[in-house]
Amino acid sequence: MPLIASIDTKLVSRWVPSPNFGPRADGRAPDMLLLHYTGMPSHDAALAWLTDAQSKVSAHYLIDCDGTITQMVAEDKRAWHAGRAYWAGESDINSCSIGIEIHNPGYEGGYPDFPEEQMQAVVALCRDICARHAIAPGRVLAHSDVAPKRKPDPGEKFDWARLYRNGVGLWVPAAPIEGDAGLGPGDQGATVEELQRALARFGYGIKPSAVYDQATSQVVTAFQRHWRPQRVDGRADRSTIATLARLETLAAGA
Ligand SMILES: [Zn+2]
Repeated sequence: MPLIASIDTKLVSRWVPSPNFGPRADGRAPDMLLLHYTGMPSHDAALAWLTDAQSKVSAHYLIDCDGTITQMVAEDKRAWHAGRAYWAGESDINSCSIGIEIHNPGYEGGYPDFPEEQMQAVVALCRDICARHAIAPGRVLAHSDVAPKRKPDPGEKFDWARLYRNGVGLWVPAAPIEGDAGLGPGDQGATVEELQRALARFGYGIKPSAVYDQATSQVVTAFQRHWRPQRVDGRADRSTIATLARLETLAAGA
């Protein structure tokens, strides 16, 4: 059987099959795009890990710094990239998503900028996937959005605004930072509960408790990494809350 038969898009440079996949639950079609960074020292180490049966992890695609795209799992299969995760009522994120690993050594490896050649490939692949599967803008997400307690990737250096300018994902310019301390750990009451409800409506896995606990801080951090990257501190200042409100309005009309 020719391996080439499993390649889903002509953007792919090569096919290196991973054994780490299964069927999508209920045979459902993907309707979410999830972006990651590899967090590994080298692209080749990441490729080896994602295609090693022992690792039990994979993704559909891996993008090297030079823009080379490798496919590892066919899009109609369930790759193992999200782990324990949640978004908008769903916890089997692997069954509903396509996963792209973008090579970057991540926070533990100095977190270099994503190179231009790599970003061009990311944009092209995301556009292609979103068009073929009619993925809604609000369902183009970071690993950190669906697993805020465990995962920081792809991090605040990732250029979501550029994706949006190319027709991928949801984006608004962040509301200006005003310098107010905002809500943070230890705060409680109606304003905290209102924030938690807004985050939950947007899709995040957070239970309104009216207490600004560690989980709230982690979800706010995830939100900032994606949509208010100018300052990532886990505190819900006016800018963070206003940016979330703008996104809710945009998502409602999208
Ligand atoms: Zn990840």
